[in-house]
Amino acid sequence: MNTAESPNQIRRTLDSRLKQLMPRGPVLLASVVQSARRCGRYGCKCNRGERHVRTQITFKDRGKTRSIYVPADLVGEVRQWAAEGRRLQGLLKECSQLAVALLRSKPQAPQKLRRRPK
Ligand SMILES: [Zn+2]
Repeated sequence: MNTAESPNQIRRTLDSRLKQLMPRGPVLLASVVQSARRCGRYGCKCNRGERHVRTQITFKDRGKTRSIYVPADLVGEVRQWAAEGRRLQGLLKECSQLAVALLRSKPQAPQKLRRRPK
């Protein structure tokens, strides 16, 4: 980030990012993972190399990694939710960095307080 920007420039950038913070749909803070496996049933197509593809999401819940399977008909939609989650997370991070930049662009408060005369 360019730290040489003026406070007004930083404010303008911050305002424009804040306007983009509105979700455009459901938000999911998780990663969408696909896996392909063999079921082991005799004569199944997966024995000929056509593996069963499953989609799941993984996310953190109170410090623990959890995963849930996504029904096939929801995969496309769930990917959009996760993309929206990434977009908003990126924006939030940027807004926080801009808030820090705004503070840094101002003269810093004096480190030493003057001693009160006795
Ligand atoms: Zn199979």
